[in-house]
Amino acid sequence: MAKSTVFFQAVQNSQDKVLTADKFKNLIKQSNLFGDMKKGEIIPIKTHMGEKGNTGHVDAIIIKQLINQLKAKAVKPFIVETNVLYQGKRVNAVDHLMLGAEHGFDPVSLGAPVFIADGLWGENSMDIEINKKHFKTVTIAKPVMYFDSLVSVAHVTGHLLTGFAASIKNIGMGLASRTGKLRQHSNIKLKIITDRCTFCKRCIKQCQVDAIVEHKAKAFIQPDICVGCGKCIAACKFAAIADSYGEDAKILSEKMVEYAYGVLLNIKQKVFFNFAVHITKNCDCMAKDEPTIVNDIGIFASIDPVSCDKAAADMIIQSVKGDIFNKVFPGADYYMNQLIYAQEIGLGNMDYDFVEIK
Ligand code: SF4
Ligand code: SF4
Repeated sequence: MAKSTVFFQAVQNSQDKVLTADKFKNLIKQSNLFGDMKKGEIIPIKTHMGEKGNTGHVDAIIIKQLINQLKAKAVKPFIVETNVLYQGKRVNAVDHLMLGAEHGFDPVSLGAPVFIADGLWGENSMDIEINKKHFKTVTIAKPVMYFDSLVSVAHVTGHLLTGFAASIKNIGMGLASRTGKLRQHSNIKLKIITDRCTFCKRCIKQCQVDAIVEHKAKAFIQPDICVGCGKCIAACKFAAIADSYGEDAKILSEKMVEYAYGVLLNIKQKVFFNFAVHITKNCDCMAKDEPTIVNDIGIFASIDPVSCDKAAADMIIQSVKGDIFNKVFPGADYYMNQLIYAQEIGLGNMDYDFVEIK
């Protein structure tokens, strides 16, 4: 497979949203990755609008810059998202759209509509045949089958269950229907380490499907109710929730890669942006602002999701002189697991040519 090109625009202070949006505009123009889009074409932009209280997601002001650039090419962009597994503000299309609007993702502010592709409760899905190691078919939001193009805007972060989240996760988990997300998480079985559990109940408050109950004055996770979202792990201050890492996480990562493969299988034109700024331990599904674990790096752009993710991971690791993802989630080579398997099944290429935009 030929090397892909990854374009890079440095960003040192992402708190300045207007400046970051300007830098994004420069990257979009100079990388010129939208060359083949046809006049009047409908262009989905997949991004994460942030859980309620989250401030780390790519800001609507920045996404608006992309929308403006696309509209200048006489195409019709829109934001596409799907519902999540757990209870909360993104579990159905109505609450999800209202939360998006609170974060500035509304048609008036953006100049483009927002569309929850898997329907009111995640019912609008279809199976796509992929015949890979974990799945023969993947269950994705049905409108994806009508996409000719796709623009992905991902925020690069760590992740509770996959260790690393960027373009592959934005697509693989992000355009799966709720059923598809459940199929990906099905191997994640969490357990309480009772010796460590102080029964502080923080995990119980975080669990949005009420899977955690009291058993002999300790927390107990009911496996038939748990949907494997991992939120309880972040809540526990005593490291008393285990088994999410290692082999289970590797399988989840591979499943997610297979979903990304299925989503992208029939889409002709694809562009991926990775925002390696405000990089946090956990992803934007966290309902809070999180401290950063690495200084701002910049924005990456490519037509290859594997190259785009590899370049972002390489530069993050280089900037702190070590594998920060393994450090914050010890136990597995998270980003490499994802990328090696992604390359193996033909999602993209880990080798890339690097072009810095000034
Ligand atoms: S948050 Fe941790 S220590 Fe507290 S009840 Fe849950 S498992 Fe136990
Ligand atoms: S992973 Fe934890 S928070 Fe998520 S559903 Fe299971 S028990 Fe609840």
